[in-house]
Amino acid sequence: MLLLLPVAAFANGLTTHVTISQDALPSLPEGDLAELLRDPELWFYLQNGTQFPDGGYAMGEAYSETAHWEPFQDLYFDWIKATYAGNYSSIEARQHIAYLFGLSSHGMGDQVFDSLYMQRAYVYDAASDWDNTSMDQATDVAIGAATGGQQTLEPYVPTDVFVPLMAEAGVTVDAETLEDGQFLTAVAITFGREAGSRPDQQELYRAQFPWAYDHMMDEGVDGAPYWESMVVARYWQVRWALLHDETSAFEPVMFTFPQDGDYAHPTDATSPESRVTVFFSRGLVADLLQPDFFEVHDAAGNEIALNEPWVFYGVSSHAVHLSPVEDWPADTDFTVTIHAGVPFIDGTTSLVESTFSFSTKPEPAAGNPEAPECGCASAGSPWSRLAFGAAAVFVVGRCRRPGRGLAGSPPAKAARLAARLPIAAEIR
Ligand SMILES: [Zn+2]
Repeated sequence: MLLLLPVAAFANGLTTHVTISQDALPSLPEGDLAELLRDPELWFYLQNGTQFPDGGYAMGEAYSETAHWEPFQDLYFDWIKATYAGNYSSIEARQHIAYLFGLSSHGMGDQVFDSLYMQRAYVYDAASDWDNTSMDQATDVAIGAATGGQQTLEPYVPTDVFVPLMAEAGVTVDAETLEDGQFLTAVAITFGREAGSRPDQQELYRAQFPWAYDHMMDEGVDGAPYWESMVVARYWQVRWALLHDETSAFEPVMFTFPQDGDYAHPTDATSPESRVTVFFSRGLVADLLQPDFFEVHDAAGNEIALNEPWVFYGVSSHAVHLSPVEDWPADTDFTVTIHAGVPFIDGTTSLVESTFSFSTKPEPAAGNPEAPECGCASAGSPWSRLAFGAAAVFVVGRCRRPGRGLAGSPPAKAARLAARLPIAAEIR
């Protein structure tokens, strides 16, 4: 039965996407946004919205790609703002916001995963058959195996809203097609759960992409689902602020890899591990992004020569990779500066400069007073300015303190689930 389902045609990981939405919830600061997205009554909409963007791929429908990106999501966003006139207390408004934030989670998750994790998998799973097998599907089985997978929900699309909005975005699609696509996403959820529960399927998919399969629960890998959920939580806060016209409530730079104060950054310029990746709060106008927006200096003030910035995925992307022309000098502290004027697709430009630091020095030993305090922004770090309201500073560092003590936080989950994994030894 399982293998008769048309899931082989998918090139995605919907169990992973839904798990990321779920795991982002504990990272939200307490407040209206957390209250809305954690509302059990709205999970149906958040999960369906998280699934929606991949539904058309298997049918060759253009709406899928469109649904991943901020220009379409902004149309839905604008429709919500106009329809509810800034009053989001009705159940319908809350349902639409949950669905929209599902789309946001999916699109941002893909950007984080593809720019960081998949780039590593290309190197570490270079021997895999990338043309005929799907890393997204294999890694979805890994997440299904590690977490038990997700519930298959009744498929739902707000078709009366999406059909005209897709037309506005230049995509002709009817309601029935959107519903068919959403049904296929539900099939993919069933697949991730069922295949993930079967040792033969685990082995099959693990063999296809051994590194990618084995590191999905590894917080030590940039772009792994744990980090996707962290970026998604931050992105949700940006979107929520915009929904309330609080444009000064977030900074142009939303997240970075490495993070401010990180040590032991790899030096090898040829490795994806040495990249410095900046996630912006808004989609970028890639064509207008000048190389001189970005500078890296060492502690003595010497500027480090960088390759042309790589706007990952180009148009509307949030992610920019920076890489040094030569290896990063060893045992050195660096400051990354992102100048004001970065152009975003909503017609705005960033008004403030952003900076953060990283180091190729080894991590100070535990107990060393130089060691950064776990999970806290040091005073004056760029992240301490990233407050979304007074209670909202949440910062994740290399010393990975488990998130807010909730049972579902990823580190706790990783530990709890380790015994169920065929790759338990790999779990940190
Ligand atoms: Zn996708």
